[in-house]
Amino acid sequence: MHSAAPALPSSARRQRVALFTGMLVVACLLVGGFAVFDLTVTGYTHHAAAEAAALVGFGASLLLLRSRLPTARAMLLAIGVAGVLFLYKIFTGRMEDAVLVWAPAFAAMPIFLFGVRGGLCWIIVYDAILVAGLGVAAASGAVTGLTGAAAVNAVGATVAVALVVYYCEFSRAEARRHLREAALTDFLTGIHNRRSFEAEAERELARATRGSHLSLALIDVDHFKRINDRWGHDVGDAAIRHVAGLLAGNTRRFDIPGRLGGEEFGLLLVDAEPAAAAEAAERLRRRIAETPFPGPDGPLALTISVGVAAAEPGAPFHQLYARADRRLYCAKEGGRNRVVAE
Ligand code: GH3
Ligand code: MG
Ligand code: MG
Repeated sequence: MHSAAPALPSSARRQRVALFTGMLVVACLLVGGFAVFDLTVTGYTHHAAAEAAALVGFGASLLLLRSRLPTARAMLLAIGVAGVLFLYKIFTGRMEDAVLVWAPAFAAMPIFLFGVRGGLCWIIVYDAILVAGLGVAAASGAVTGLTGAAAVNAVGATVAVALVVYYCEFSRAEARRHLREAALTDFLTGIHNRRSFEAEAERELARATRGSHLSLALIDVDHFKRINDRWGHDVGDAAIRHVAGLLAGNTRRFDIPGRLGGEEFGLLLVDAEPAAAAEAAERLRRRIAETPFPGPDGPLALTISVGVAAAEPGAPFHQLYARADRRLYCAKEGGRNRVVAE
């Protein structure tokens, strides 16, 4: 099975973008309000200027978010603007301890926006700057209005929030991975299930060019009902696992095996010319016939019938499937335990 890290599903991505848009609007209102407040009430004009600049930055992030550019760019810009404004306010003096209330928010946001791995890198950089900066500021007493206790509490809360958000995101990503794998894996054999197999086939077909080759082998165990009837369903299941194990263990690295249902399997032969695909199917048939299934009353010879068809450029998967299926039918009609190819 392919186990590449799954991307966020598009619905989850849309939710994140909507939430991020809301956060940006709130950020614009906050910095805009603070700019007016600092200009008219506190008289901290340099803070007002910084807040006005941040307003422009957040506005630009909103525009970026609406554009066709990758969402991550808007997020990077917004986080950069917020982080710079926050650190600027801390280290330009005359700040209130209350500003530090925002420190934990900057720990949570990167993980939320960039995912577990990307977010963690950001947090480590951000926390290092915050801890070093606050440590220097608190020790030197250069920043008026900042007490050592407030600095220590801000750093503690930041680390605590980062840990909790990291844990939540990490377990969410794990749960998503498990769910995805369960949805794509056949529970009995551990190979691709029908849905996943068809998706892989569609992907390979879309990738196939005029010069490349792709073949489909449809495999059905012969007289399988007899096993179920004689020894019961559990032994039948074990026999299916036996065949699946031989199928998965006797194919090339790029070939894709799947269980299509019952005792029927599919094998996508990637980059195999029709003759090579037929040979591979024949090798597999022989291997299965020569490897008896260890049944309850001793070794049991199992055989398979196989239909092989080569993909035609531009033709959809169901056509390829139908051609392979017709040949599988011919193999059954021809006496079973055989491969029918072109
Ligand atoms: P043929 O050579 O014509 O293929 O004969 P067959 O007996 O294999 O016939 P068919 O393919 O029609 O029968 C498949 C049987 O597989 C029918 C069903 O009882 C059984 N089966 C389907 N799914 C499962 C499963 O998950 N576990 C077990 N044990 N049996 C299954
Ligand atoms: Mg069968
Ligand atoms: Mg069958």
